[in-house]
Amino acid sequence: MSINPNPSDKALVPFVSVDHMMKLVHHIGIEDMLRGIADYIEADFKRWPLFDKTPRVASHSDTGVIELMPTSDGDVYGFKYVNGHPSNTAEGLQTVTAFGLLADVASGYPVLLSEMTLLTALRTAATSALVARVLAPKNAKVMAMIGNGTQSEFQSLAMKTIVGIEEVRLYDIDPAATDKCAANLEGQGLRVVKCSSAEASMEGAQIITTCTADKQYATILTDNMVGSGVHINAIGGDCPGKTELAPAILHRAEIFVEYPEQTRIEGEIQQMDPDHPVTEFWEVLTGTAKGRTNNSQITLFDSVGFAIEDFSALRYVRDRIANTALFHPLDLLADPDDPRDLFGMLQRAKA
Ligand code: NAD
Repeated sequence: MSINPNPSDKALVPFVSVDHMMKLVHHIGIEDMLRGIADYIEADFKRWPLFDKTPRVASHSDTGVIELMPTSDGDVYGFKYVNGHPSNTAEGLQTVTAFGLLADVASGYPVLLSEMTLLTALRTAATSALVARVLAPKNAKVMAMIGNGTQSEFQSLAMKTIVGIEEVRLYDIDPAATDKCAANLEGQGLRVVKCSSAEASMEGAQIITTCTADKQYATILTDNMVGSGVHINAIGGDCPGKTELAPAILHRAEIFVEYPEQTRIEGEIQQMDPDHPVTEFWEVLTGTAKGRTNNSQITLFDSVGFAIEDFSALRYVRDRIANTALFHPLDLLADPDDPRDLFGMLQRAKA
């Protein structure tokens, strides 16, 4: 089966621009799209052993990190280019931007190139909600959302759509970020409460999402702030030297991760012994490991973002743009009439 939505010309690669991605989200509807991406991620997590896996390749600087995230299921290869620069927003730039590609393993030809800044926000939110649907206390209705930047509305909506959250309690050190998030969530079917401290945001919350950006060992949550039975969705600590939780919380929690080899470098557990026990979330989905086992347990999703989630999101986009006009055919690959006559093609172009 062809994986190219435009199979008539393999040299023209479908390119989904930011504008097309926005149109696609509105065409599908953001909540349906979050559910759809979560379904694709769940399907790929259930065939986890089949994938090529490696911790992402990171290039660090004083101001941030640039990363490549590759994976393959044997038929399709994918990668994402993504940056993380916490001080960018002060310059009017985003903390995270991304683009990604899918290729046909059999020929090595790219079959999709896509913007992934929006898609990363959607896939991160879909992953958070998929995990919370499995691990959070049953009938969780209230979420604390600490860090009200780029990801926060996507996180809140995914938790509403996939988990059934009804109230989101916002806190950010910058009140302007909280005002922005509250305004964007108006009319989206959530009760939104603006809070003046992290502690206040956690009142009555069964799910606590931390999504702050700071290139340091930050302590967004201290041990005394976290009561029993909650689910913590810690997504902001995703780089060496960048964490959000006090180590004492990690000692009390049952920790679930994407790919331990990457999370031990980048996640909250970089603060723990290298053999501190963690559970791989895909094993909970396939039934080979236990999820939440009692009401008083603290479950922690130590999220860093893994290549398979991007692969699933790109797969979803590839399937949804077929038979639409929501992509440009991109002249990305040289296509000489005689495949061995690249030079001749170049010469003829001169004429
Ligand atoms: P952003 O810069 O748009 O927003 C971050 C917000 O955190 C800002 O509003 C900032 O004021 C706030 N903040 C900083 N320190 C705080 C503190 N101590 N208490 C409360 N709020 C605080 O960034 P973003 O795109 O929303 O990303 C947030 C974090 O999530 C980044 O670190 C990013 O690398 C990470 N991220 C993780 C994944 C993943 O898959 N795990 C995916 C995307 C982004």
